[in-house]
Order: sequence, then structure tokens, then C-alpha cells
Amino acid sequence: MGQMMNQPLLISSIVEFASRHNGGSEIVSRRVEGDMHRYTFRECHQRSRRLANALQGLGVKMGDRVATLAWNGYRHLEAYYAVSGSGAVLHTINPRLHPEQVAYIINHAEDQLLFFDLTFLPAIEAVAAHCKMIKGYVLMTDRAHMPADSKIPDLMCYEDLINSHSDDYTWPQFDENSAATLCYTSGTTGNPKGALYSHRSTVLHAYASALPNALNVTSHDTVLPVVPMFHVNAWGLPYSVPLTGARMVFPGPALDGKSLYELFESEGVTMSAGVPTVWLGLINYALQNKLKFSTFRRTVIGGSACPPAMMNTLIDEFGVEVVHAWGMTEMSPLGTACVLSSKHKAMPQDEQRKILQKQGHAIFGVDMKIVDDDGKELPWDGVGYGHLLVKGPWIISSYFKGEGGDVLQDGWFPTGDVATIDSDGYMQITDRSKDVIKSGGEWIGTIDLENIAMAHPAVMQAACIGIYHPKWDERPLLIVVRRPGQEVSREELLAFYEGKIAKWWTPDDVVFADALPLGATGKVQKNKLRDHYKDHKLP
Ligand code: ADP
Repeated sequence: MGQMMNQPLLISSIVEFASRHNGGSEIVSRRVEGDMHRYTFRECHQRSRRLANALQGLGVKMGDRVATLAWNGYRHLEAYYAVSGSGAVLHTINPRLHPEQVAYIINHAEDQLLFFDLTFLPAIEAVAAHCKMIKGYVLMTDRAHMPADSKIPDLMCYEDLINSHSDDYTWPQFDENSAATLCYTSGTTGNPKGALYSHRSTVLHAYASALPNALNVTSHDTVLPVVPMFHVNAWGLPYSVPLTGARMVFPGPALDGKSLYELFESEGVTMSAGVPTVWLGLINYALQNKLKFSTFRRTVIGGSACPPAMMNTLIDEFGVEVVHAWGMTEMSPLGTACVLSSKHKAMPQDEQRKILQKQGHAIFGVDMKIVDDDGKELPWDGVGYGHLLVKGPWIISSYFKGEGGDVLQDGWFPTGDVATIDSDGYMQITDRSKDVIKSGGEWIGTIDLENIAMAHPAVMQAACIGIYHPKWDERPLLIVVRRPGQEVSREELLAFYEGKIAKWWTPDDVVFADALPLGATGKVQKNKLRDHYKDHKLP
């Protein structure tokens, strides 16, 4: 046996390290209350210990679930460390879920306490009666902002709770495989299912995701996670950033283009991460107002495919490097990130862009393969596509409470995505298997069709779905949201596909919409579109 110290990998070690070795690094938050708040990792650690004492005082024990319904902010970060660090399980709830779904997951998780931001007081008042297991509600604000009266009995005030406890707290040591956090998938079909992360999986994911070929976070960075802390733990940034000594900036609830732009500029943000829909808002605001970024240099985009037009605008107009990344709730979430390797450096720019548009290379810890319908592994030739399967220490082996039964196939997790992998190991998602259009026994990937439409200057957003066709089973229908004040016809858009794609992939029809339905994590809800257009008659 090796003769190294056997120290469990625990989440508390992250905040302890940050406080001891980068204690002066700043955490800046735009508060729900409207003002800005600043403090350091040292103070964050101190207040997390106070909160850990408070949780103990409220009777929270190892393994108990404690829920949050909160924006990105310093109090939410304290809950991240205090809850998991003390051995309880942090359950982050997505406030964009339907109230019935919120109540469902609170009950399913058997949450004991619920911490929430002021914004969500009415939402919580509406569901509290259905959440029988919750023993206490904590409003994440100070005394001055507490409501005079609330339908929630014995509503606690976060700052009072912190102030009434000492920071004299030693993080307990326990098995690194203990549960640490719980996230539910958005449940586009059926009820949401829980992914229960461990301390070990979270710490390993933090190490791997901070690497230069992944998120590449350094002590020189000021990182603003736009991706919410209720969406797969803000892709692990609350754990990976503190390893590096970088500054953190939290945007609170203000995620519109103007608010984000102002925060990026006033705080000198260098790095960020978020889903394509948030970049849409920020880019449009900056373009409309002819603004440039003075410090912003790199962003990670994932959660759904980054349209090439968006990537090109960020790189060419704003000088912002884009790291296209792919993952899922079941993967903590990071699986791949797209960074060029040295062999790509000599390529012409448009060839490089084609690589950068892929979802990228596996990060160390994740293995992946593509298989056909019979489960046979397919070659990595960048052309043939198949079902994407993954494995690794931060990928689920089963859902919380065994929901959905045995989910692995020979030890691999089926992602539900369809992808190609090239000979250098760069993976590209063609589609989600449930969104692929099956036309005459062949598959048509919708991401390519959407990307082409979104490269048209008059198109702001596009989605493609399969519509029933008597001869071909399904044919593509393109749904387009035009840019404000711009015109483009169905014929012009269909002509725009010429030469860019195999002719039989071209959509059969185009319809225009004012907006696309977005789900709780900012993704287009294709099931809603399929429902809405199910009787659409193709020409
Ligand atoms: P949910 O599955 O509940 O919507 P997730 O955030 O876990 O929430 O979504 C994971 C899925 O999102 C992946 O399986 C994939 O289909 C899609 N996805 C994530 N990142 C990308 C990306 N960069 N390009 C294309 N699809 C992506």
C-alpha cells in the first residue's frame, strides 16, 4: 500500500483552503435587496461556520436534506458550504419549475429546512401547505427586510440566525462517499429525478473542471457565474473557483443584458459561464448600444448547443474566447470542453471554428463512447453518429431513491444524446435522441438545421422539430423568431440552406413565432413545440 495520508475529499476542505490560502480574495454579490455586497473568502468561511452551528441548533443531522431556493449570491454560497460541510445534503431547487413540481421535489427529497430569497416569498407561501416535512423556513435576508407578517409561521431571518451563533465550529470528517448535494433534472418528461452527488464526486469534479483545457480558472480571474447555483450547482463553479484564488461576482436575480453588462464592466469580470439564451440577451444589448467589453476574455457556453453565429460574434466582435462545453445534471455536470490542441493551431481560422463548435474533448475522469442501436461501439471518425454513453466518478450510478431502476448499460450511463467523435477525441452532439427527426429511416440532426437558420442575420432564435409525414414518417419544420424590426420570408430562409446541407435535410416548412417556449434551465422545450404544431400541414 502507498504510504500517503488518507484524507477524505470533503467539500468543507474547499472553503477551508480558500479561507486559509486565498483568504483575501473577494466575493461580490448583487443582492436581491438591490445593493452590492462585498466580502472575502475568509469572511465567507467564518459565516459558513456560524451557519453550520445554526443548522446543528435547528436539529439538522448527517444526511438530512436542506433545501435552497435562491439566486447566485454570497448567502447561497454560505449555505453550499455550511450544509454539505456539516454532513447534511444541500438540495438546490430551480425556482423556474412549476409550483407543483417544486412541492413534488421538496416532498420527494424530504427536505427538513428551506432557505429562500426574498423574491420567492410569495411562491413559498403558495406551496408551504403542501410541504409537510419542512420543519423550518429561513428567509435569506436581514431583519430590516423581513415581512411584517407572512403566511409562513415562525419564519426565520437568515442574518439573525447567523448572528446568534458563534463561528467556533470544526468541520466534521466523514466518509468522502457521503451524499453532499441533490439536484433534480428538469423533468421535461415525467416527474423530475434526483442526482445525488457525493463529497468525493464534487471535489474530483472541481479539480478536473478547473484544469486549463476545461474551465481554465486562475488566480488572475474574476469569475461571474451566470449559470444559476440552482442549475447543477452553477456547473461546479462555487467549488472550482475557490481552489484557484480567483475573485467571484454573483449577479443575483438581474440576468438581463443591461444589468449583466454593467456588472461585467464595473467589477472587471474576466470569465463567465452560462447557457446560450443568456448570452443572447447580453450580446444583443452590447450590439444595440455599440458597447465593447473591457476585461471580459473568456466564457464557457453549454447546456444546449452554442450556435456558431453566437460564437463568431463573441470572438470576432468582442474578442471573447468561447469554450463550448457539454454535460448534464447526471454528470455533475461537466463531461467535455472544447479547447484547440496544438495540431489545430496551424489550421485556417474557419477550420478551427469548425472544431471549436464541437462540444469538445473529454475532461480527465470522464470516458465516453458512441454505440449503435444494438450497443456495438462505433468508430471515432467524426462522421458516424450513435448513442453517447459515459462513465466516470462524477456520473450517477442510479437516481435518488432508485427512481427509474437500473440506469446503467454495462456500467455506462446512456446520456440520451446522439453524437459523433473524431479521431482526436472531439465529440459533437447531433441531437438529443428524442429530438432527432426520423425521415424515411434516416436520422436528421436538428442542431445543424437550427445553427444554419441562426446564422441568418434576421433570425434571433430557431428550433427544428419533426412533423408527421405520410410518406417519410417525419419531416423537419423550422420555427423562427425574427430579430426585432427584421424581415425574412419562408422562401428566403429555405433558400438559405442551399449548399450548406444535404438537400433532403432542408426543412419542409418554416413558421414564424414571437418567442420559443423555454424550460426551467433556459432551453427550448421541443415537446411543447411538437404539441403546438402537431397538426401543422406540411406543403
Ligand atoms: P435536463 O436534461 O434536465 O434538461 P441538463 O442540464 O442536465 O438538464 O441537460 C443535459 C442535456 O443538455 C444534455 O444531455 C444535452 O442534450 C444538452 N446539452 C448540454 N450541453 C450541450 C451542448 N453544449 N450542446 C448541445 N447540447 C447540450
